[in-house]
Amino acid sequence: MQDAQRSVYGIIGYPLAHSLSPLMHNVAFKELGVDAVYQLFPLKEEELDGFFEKLRERSNPIFGLNVTTPYKERAVRYLDNVSPLVERIMAVNTIVITRERRLIGYNTDAPGFLSHLVELQFNTRGKKIAMLGAGGAARAILGVLCMISERPVSIKIYNRSTGRLNELLKDLATRMDTSIVEPVMSIDDLEIPEADLLLNTTSVGLRKDDPCLIDEALIHPSLLVYDLIYNPAETDLLKMAKRRGARTANGLGMLYYQGVLGLQHWANVQLDERVKNVMRRALEEGLRL
Ligand code: NDP
Repeated sequence: MQDAQRSVYGIIGYPLAHSLSPLMHNVAFKELGVDAVYQLFPLKEEELDGFFEKLRERSNPIFGLNVTTPYKERAVRYLDNVSPLVERIMAVNTIVITRERRLIGYNTDAPGFLSHLVELQFNTRGKKIAMLGAGGAARAILGVLCMISERPVSIKIYNRSTGRLNELLKDLATRMDTSIVEPVMSIDDLEIPEADLLLNTTSVGLRKDDPCLIDEALIHPSLLVYDLIYNPAETDLLKMAKRRGARTANGLGMLYYQGVLGLQHWANVQLDERVKNVMRRALEEGLRL
C-alpha cells in the first residue's frame, strides 16, 4: 500500500449501487491506520478502455481494484500479469497496480467461496452439486471445483442461455479436467433430489419481484442451498429452502473472504483477526441497514 499520497482503491462494474465492498474496505483501512479510500467506479462498457489507459499514468492514485459484473472476464485482457488461477479460469476480481503502474490480476472469488464452504463445514469431496448460472461468478466457482483435490463426484449445471454455458465449458475444458461437469437443458434435469449442494450463481433473486427458479418440492433436508446473492440476505430461494428444512447460506461469507484475500494482495500483508472481524461486522451491519 502506498504512503506518499492518499491511495485510492475501488470497484469497477455496472451497476454498482448494491456493493457493500466500500464499507468493508474503508473500515479495514481505518483499522490498519492506512491513509486510503475505497470508492465505487461505475463504468459503462464504452468507458472501460479509457479507464484502464488512465490507470497507467504515474499520477493516478488508484493502487487496487475489484472487478464485478459484467467485467470479470473482460478485464483480463487489460492486465500485464495474472495469477496461475486466473490463467486457468480467465476471470479476475482483484487487480493490484504497482508503483510502476503494472497491472496484476488475481481471482479471490474462487478461494473466497471455498473458504466459506469450509466455515460451513461442507466438504465437496464426493458430493453431487446442482448449479444454476454460467456468468463470471459461475466461471470462477465451476473452475475451482474442477481443480481442487476435494473433487465433487458430479456437477450438473443449467443456464438460461445454453450457448453461454456451452462456451464456458468449452473454454474451461482447454485448461482443466471438466469431466465431472454435465450441462443440462432444463432445471428438471439438475437432479436436485439426489444433490448435496444447490448453488445459485445467477442474479435471479436480486430484485424483489424475481421469480424463484426452483420447484419447492425438489428441496430436501440434506441439501445445502447456497445463494451467491447476499442482498437481500434471504432470497425467495433461501426462504423456500428453510421451509423445506434444508441448510442455507447466502453469499455474504464469500464476499467477506474474497475481500480479505483481496486486501491482503493490495497491502501485501496477512490481516490479523482484529481487522478481519471489523470487516465482517461492517458487512453484517451494512446488510441490516
Ligand atoms: P453475470 O452477469 O456474469 O451472470 C449472470 C447470470 O445470471 C447468468 O448465468 C445469467 O444467465 C443469469 N440470469 C440473469 N437473469 C436471469 C433470468 N431472468 N433467468 C435466468 N437466469 C438469469 O453475473 P455474475 O456471474 O458476476 O454474478 C451473478 C450473481 O452472483 C450476482 O447476483 C452477483 O451479485 C453474485 N455474486 C456474489 C459474489 C459474492 O461474493 N457473494 C461474488 C460474485 C457474484 P444468461 O447467461 O442466460 O444471461
